[in-house]
Amino acid sequence: MATLDPSRIPGDVDDLAPVLRDVATKIHAHPELRFEEHRAAAWIAEAVEGAGVAVERGLGGLATAFRARIGSGSGPKVAILAEYDALPEIGHACGHNLIAAGALGAFLALSRQRDAIVGTVDLVGTPAEEGGGGKIKLLRAGAFAGVSAAMMFHPFDRDLLAHFALANTWLEMRFKGTPSHAALAPWEGASALTACLETFRLVDSQRVHFRDGVRVHGFVTNGGQAVNIIPETAAAEFSVRALSVAEMDRVRAVVERCARGAALACGVEVTFNVREGYRDLVNNLTLARRFGAHLEALGRHPAEGDSSVGSGSTDMGDVSHEVPSIHPWIAICDKGETTCHQHAFQVCAGSERGVASMLAAAKAMALTAADVLGDAALREALQREFEASRSPAP
Ligand SMILES: [Zn+2]
Repeated sequence: MATLDPSRIPGDVDDLAPVLRDVATKIHAHPELRFEEHRAAAWIAEAVEGAGVAVERGLGGLATAFRARIGSGSGPKVAILAEYDALPEIGHACGHNLIAAGALGAFLALSRQRDAIVGTVDLVGTPAEEGGGGKIKLLRAGAFAGVSAAMMFHPFDRDLLAHFALANTWLEMRFKGTPSHAALAPWEGASALTACLETFRLVDSQRVHFRDGVRVHGFVTNGGQAVNIIPETAAAEFSVRALSVAEMDRVRAVVERCARGAALACGVEVTFNVREGYRDLVNNLTLARRFGAHLEALGRHPAEGDSSVGSGSTDMGDVSHEVPSIHPWIAICDKGETTCHQHAFQVCAGSERGVASMLAAAKAMALTAADVLGDAALREALQREFEASRSPAP
């Protein structure tokens, strides 16, 4: 049996560049929202099938999830994750089209040597990162069972190997007051809107008590019914994020307390609906550094982290609590030029520079995957780190 030759990988990715650019460009030009990524999933699957590898569509009961698998079927297993959903109104302003093409490139490059793979490489199509939690549904469906290492990359304005991501949750609140004519008999009303607005003020009053890294941001989803009616109903939605699930849960309870306090003051009722969010990201440094070494060899100079930039949340966080994972960030623009969820970033996600960064990420992921498959000491080291990260902090 032939042995996997990593030195072939960069050239093979370059050879695949036209296919990868085509997939990235098509997905970019046809943004699809969470769980509606039918065309994107099909384009990626067709490219995989074009290389002679079967694709399992509808993975985990999700219409736009899929999995392709190469290898000997036993031994270590590497999962390379593709995202491909877009955002409302601003399209691919998170660059998930490049994530998809990069994962595809890493997988197709490895598939050219699939007869030499001892172990398994999965390309997993994970829909709905933007608020749908596709990876969480796939985790529950067992899609990551037995995975030795999971990897993806994410576009950014700088190369970071192990940047943090915040645990997050969504809290909807509905206020129910008493309507009355706002001029004729306002004293007979109780304003749901006032309670809603006071909640924002009270939450602000509590920020001094939040730990570093906490983000609480909300918006009013219902501000009343008419100008001449004391608002009977009002509603708001908050996102609560923190560096750990424990702090997130604590702060969410504070936000609820603020809403109850505002409701009490205004004589209205409040009810809550909590929507499950994402866990914080546990970066496997052993694996991230190996990815970083390959990126260095490709002429890029990644940092491990950068405390001067913030972060969002990702359902890769949930995966990272279950299997050793990396989620490196790769620049598709100059540092500080623009960042995720901005119009200018959407333009970068469709640019040649974006494609070039995607190709570098594909090479580094494929090389890292080859290391995991072929290096038992590396697998032991990353598993040891993973086990240590799961034990409770002292
Ligand atoms: Zn994203």
